Amino acid sequence: MIINMVEGATEAEIQHIIDSVVLCGYQPHVIRGTERTIVAAVGSGGNRAQLEALKSAPGVEDAIAISHPFKLVSRQVRKESSVVDVAGVKVGGEHIVIIAGPCSVESREQMLETAIGVKKAGARMLRGGAYKPRTSPYDFQGLGVEALKILAEARKVTGLPVVTEVMSTEDVDLISEYADVLQVGARNMQNFALLRRLAKAERPILLKRGPSATVKEWLLAAEYLLAGGNSQVILCERGIKTFETELRNTFDLAAIALAKELSHLPVIADPSHGTGRRSLVSATSKAAIAVGADGLIVEVHPCPERALSDGPQSLTLAGFSAMVQSLSQPLRRVAELEMAATA
Ligand code: PEP
Ligand code: MN
Repeated sequence: MIINMVEGATEAEIQHIIDSVVLCGYQPHVIRGTERTIVAAVGSGGNRAQLEALKSAPGVEDAIAISHPFKLVSRQVRKESSVVDVAGVKVGGEHIVIIAGPCSVESREQMLETAIGVKKAGARMLRGGAYKPRTSPYDFQGLGVEALKILAEARKVTGLPVVTEVMSTEDVDLISEYADVLQVGARNMQNFALLRRLAKAERPILLKRGPSATVKEWLLAAEYLLAGGNSQVILCERGIKTFETELRNTFDLAAIALAKELSHLPVIADPSHGTGRRSLVSATSKAAIAVGADGLIVEVHPCPERALSDGPQSLTLAGFSAMVQSLSQPLRRVAELEMAATA
């Protein structure tokens, strides 16, 4: 249930609603917007009828039952889009934010060359895996702490904030010392112990959609973070499993538009994992932006053929630069409109 306070509701009226929500057996979450305050009543098993009766309490404009199972991430709770501020880089604001870097941090030289190159080309954040979720235990697993130190150096050299994946609750504190954003990988989207722990972390979270997760499940995973106290969440579509075998994943563009419609959280797109093919990254990036993505996370390697993970989907530095340039070019025009304009 969402309790919408009137514009200019007094602090006493807001506090009365917060106290009443608790008395009804729900947890109150207060969202203070520029114009009005909203109190979301979260939980189950409370007295719903008593809660609905708060519609007539002083200072309340309306109380709306929520049809979706997620609440705090919902646009019904917060109409304005949320902006996640990562060390001054605003994700979900006016501009598209591009995050770029290698799949895995492999060496100091590789990471620094990539970081300097992608910054020059227009990236506003760096990525690089230190702890890698690999399908096979025999594949490169990441350099761990050594990679975190290299990422911190790349941030120092470029001034760009760093995103890296956290796979385990045990690593959260350590990774938080080095990284600006903690990535929850696709395979961990429903690792509820990890989500609960990250809800208490003092870092924004980049939450990837699971390869077989519905949009509802994805938003419910984000709900764990918000309900636990961390509202700094960026959603990331990275492709899902379908019957298609020519592509690594099926990049679900409609899910980006749907997530933007259902949720106020910023949504970014990962066309690298979404397609698995370097040749498709630029085109699908444009498509993602066209459907409303707030940013991109793209894999870039100075020499993809030597990459220890995800070489076939990694752009070269020159390829990345060309892609960023092409993103600013307008889409093709619709024929009729062109004719009307020249008539
Ligand atoms: C990655 O970002 O390199 C990664 C492993 O992503 P995902 O969890 O989407 O597969
Ligand atoms: Mn990767």
